[in-house]
Amino acid sequence: MHALRTFALSLALIAAILQSACTEVSGTGRSQFNILSVDDELDLGQQAYVEELDTAKKAGHRLLTTGPEHDRVMQVSRRIFDAANRMHPEIARRFNWEMTVIDDPKTVNAWALPGGKSAVFTGLLPVTANDAQLAVVIGHEAAHAIARHGGERMSQQAALNVLVSAGFQLSEADPGTQQAVLNALGLGTLAFSRNQESEADHLGLLIAADAGFDPREAIPLWQNMAAAGGASPPEFLSTHPSENTRIQRLNELMPEAMAVWQAAKAAGR
Ligand SMILES: [Zn+2]
Repeated sequence: MHALRTFALSLALIAAILQSACTEVSGTGRSQFNILSVDDELDLGQQAYVEELDTAKKAGHRLLTTGPEHDRVMQVSRRIFDAANRMHPEIARRFNWEMTVIDDPKTVNAWALPGGKSAVFTGLLPVTANDAQLAVVIGHEAAHAIARHGGERMSQQAALNVLVSAGFQLSEADPGTQQAVLNALGLGTLAFSRNQESEADHLGLLIAADAGFDPREAIPLWQNMAAAGGASPPEFLSTHPSENTRIQRLNELMPEAMAVWQAAKAAGR
């Protein structure tokens, strides 16, 4: 088939998929392109969880089941998952939330996979000065799962692959399309985009506040995280523009988060 005709058909196909695969992000209402169903994400997340924990064990890291580090993470994450279920019932209540503590003191990181399977590395714990700061990190990761950022990323990548295999020539596209494709190409790694990071900061802060944690701790937390950066920056720092921009945004969100926190305290949380 002629390349141009193939390309035109591919565009029509993508347009059709875009229309049928648009969902709204819970809590922000942002329109999102996602060709995966929630059930797809639950399956993929479960598979990835088994693989990730297996990889950690093969690297010699224990998966903690007792002790103060384990107990601290479990107590905080239980409250975060409960708050996520309260605030985002339609999506979060379908998840099988689960937390594992990986005994890896050199890794300052945490993650939540699509569907809610999560992990905290013990290296994160000394960087989080108190439970509220730990709650902000776990809330941020839980927010990625609730906002279905993993499925969105995979969908963008798949759409890009269709374009490339149809002989898409970037130089011939209009500037708007060029920018969209370059943005998608920039997502070639597993890292989330800046927009997704900002959205996770926003939703995560509100979840932590609803769980009864002081949202103001988000500011010193991200300062601690920036200082702890170094050779392998944590997931949530790697794609951020700058610490100052992030803290400025968090300050703008603080009145909303404080109202949620006050209501949570009044409700006994
Ligand atoms: Zn993140």
